[in-house]
Amino acid sequence: MRDRAVAGGRCKEAAITKRCSGFYKIFCFIDIDWQFKTMPQNHTGFALVNKLNDELEINAFLYLPDKVGGGSAGSVVASRLSEEPCVTVLLLEAGAKKPPLLNDVPGLGRFFWGTDIDWQFKTVPQKNTGFALVNKQVPWPSGKGLGGSSLLNAMLYVRGNRKDYDNWAALGAKGWSYKDVFPYFLKLEDNRDFGYSLNGYHASGGPITAEKPGYHPEIKNRILEAAEQLGYRVVDSNAARQTGFHDLQGNLRNGQRCNTAKAYLVPVENRTNLDIIGGAHVKKVVFEGSRAVGVQFDYKNSEYLVKARREVIMSAGTTNTAQLLMLSGIGPKKHLQKFNVKCQYIFNLSALKVK
Ligand SMILES: Cc1cc2nc3c(=O)[nH]c(=O)nc-3n(C[C@H](O)[C@H](O)[C@H](O)COP(=O)(O)OP(=O)(O)OC[C@H]3O[C@@H](n4cnc5c(N)ncnc54)[C@H](O)[C@@H]3O)c2cc1C
Repeated sequence: MRDRAVAGGRCKEAAITKRCSGFYKIFCFIDIDWQFKTMPQNHTGFALVNKLNDELEINAFLYLPDKVGGGSAGSVVASRLSEEPCVTVLLLEAGAKKPPLLNDVPGLGRFFWGTDIDWQFKTVPQKNTGFALVNKQVPWPSGKGLGGSSLLNAMLYVRGNRKDYDNWAALGAKGWSYKDVFPYFLKLEDNRDFGYSLNGYHASGGPITAEKPGYHPEIKNRILEAAEQLGYRVVDSNAARQTGFHDLQGNLRNGQRCNTAKAYLVPVENRTNLDIIGGAHVKKVVFEGSRAVGVQFDYKNSEYLVKARREVIMSAGTTNTAQLLMLSGIGPKKHLQKFNVKCQYIFNLSALKVK
């Protein structure tokens, strides 16, 4: 705790320096065993954490960003933000901090669907599919735990199509053109297959490893040869052309799954300005007026409120981010009214610009 108090003091000092004047840095901080009472207030004093059920009030430490969801996106953002010593980050993840050891085995990813590291969502009953499923409800796997869906995805290392990025940019998503995102593809990558580093589209030394699976079935080369004989190209789908046959690379490291927590959080887990709480299920974003000032979450059968001095960042995945926003009163008015959720902010879907 002492280290953290010191870090908090440093943060306040640093806040007035030019380097940190971006102000994206103030978040409330919690420790996993709630020892905040011992935190000297004069080192922090920026935020309070209230344990709602028993009215216990704890002086807490200050964070810069308060993050919800330690999945693929959350792991990256928490790691990058906490590179700045003056930024304190609290990362709240509903699932466990570590997946079972067998999760490292790439071929077993599918077997984790429907387990504790999956939210176990199902679609509503379908009209035209799911005939063999109970109620025609199709499983909708979504990772739960540090690393998020990268704990149970297929690990295919595919960047996406250049044209999609350029279209987004043309629609107003500034900074999302292929040219803009390409340097970040290089920055994140540690390509372990020699030939790939030569075509100008790959890099090494980044946190996310990419390599071909170690298993090469005999038929693979035959298929690629046949494709070439038929006039198809064998391509690197992350380079200049995507159409063709390709010998895939995966997000693998020495043959094991390289989930995003492994890539971005494990190497920095000892940073004193980054706190990660597993098993913290965020229920609501708390607002003061139209400003998000903290989150309410369940942890070990108690309910807590943590206030962020600067920012609340949501990265709870496609489904849960939308759900959490609605639970917080942000969403289509009619839908919120149906479930008696008080509207904080009503948006008109057609006018909504998604960043
Ligand atoms: C079955 C499957 C196969 C896929 N295959 C590939 C592939 O081969 N290649 C590829 O590039 N992509 C693949 N994807 C897609 C890729 O995994 C996702 O796009 C990516 O992981 C999404 O990242 P995210 O950060 O948005 O969400 P997630 O990684 O899902 O992270 C969300 C995190 O938020 C946490 N969370 C949610 N709600 C709360 C809450 N209320 N409180 C606290 N924490 C919360 C979750 O537990 C989770 O850890 C696949 C996805 C799936 C599901």
